[in-house]
Amino acid sequence: MTGMLEAGGMFREVTATQVLLSTASPRIRFVEFAADEEKENGADWLWWWVDRDGTCFGLLVQAKILKLNGKRWSIDFTYRTRGDDRTQLSKLIAAANRFHVAAAYVLYCGDSEYRATLNCDRAHDDVPCRARDRIGVSTVSALVAETAVSLDARNSGVSAFHDAVSVEDIASPDRLDAPIVPLARGMAGDLDRFLRQPQRGSRRVAKELLRPVQRIRNGQFAGAAVMERAAPVTSALFENVPNDYGHFSVPYLAHMLRGLRVEVPDYVRDVLDGRTPPAWVTDHLGGIVVIPDADAPTTAAQAGDGGVGLLPPGLPDAPQPSHDPGQAA
Ligand SMILES: [Zn+2]
Repeated sequence: MTGMLEAGGMFREVTATQVLLSTASPRIRFVEFAADEEKENGADWLWWWVDRDGTCFGLLVQAKILKLNGKRWSIDFTYRTRGDDRTQLSKLIAAANRFHVAAAYVLYCGDSEYRATLNCDRAHDDVPCRARDRIGVSTVSALVAETAVSLDARNSGVSAFHDAVSVEDIASPDRLDAPIVPLARGMAGDLDRFLRQPQRGSRRVAKELLRPVQRIRNGQFAGAAVMERAAPVTSALFENVPNDYGHFSVPYLAHMLRGLRVEVPDYVRDVLDGRTPPAWVTDHLGGIVVIPDADAPTTAAQAGDGGVGLLPPGLPDAPQPSHDPGQAA
């Protein structure tokens, strides 16, 4: 991203994804599926974090760029293709049903120099969102984007960016995992413990994506939380999840947590074993990313300045080593 900006150009979703994946490989595994014209722009990818014991979390991901239009920072969540009255955002949330996973965005946000004029009007405990470490490649639930668009479409990009988490840090055991306090009382014991106690690996990824969604839900005057049980998903880690919608378009807990599984789906096993997944998977995706050993402990080499091992250190936002000192002018 920095390279393109320095050369007077602008980074794009497809290229940024290819650079990210090729740089993070072989720590992560990925497979690209044959792109047709429709897929070239806005093809969704499936990402799966897989722990050593097979617990895993799946996410349907669409790549987006944080852009400066005039003086306004924005993310194009409500793009419509000609002749289709549905927005990309609503299509992404619906498309996640095919795989029974959560929908999210991966945001390419450039470096801190690129974001220098981004001002967010929300509270910050520590550093403003534009200056966070490693936030150049970050992720946020599609339900956060849906809410941001419905509350204030013009400001939805900055608002979603505020709630985005660095992809590199998302499962970091070194970061604080504050308890999530659910609105509803009397949740199933395993789900209640998941929310309140620190988590690792794929469970942690699910929890970090859920965190801003639950905060939004806790701020909604949508009546008492419904405790009716959502339809169960095969191999889901949590079988008893409340069917509460709040003001979201889908039951948010069920949507966020259905991709958290006790068993790796066959098509993910295919990717890990070098086989081509079946057509019902490959026909609908740009590709699949698998992050194995998602719960592996942080090693000294990976820890760096607090960064953690989902991706190698020195990726987005980290200072790059200078060129060959012998070449210094
Ligand atoms: Zn902010």
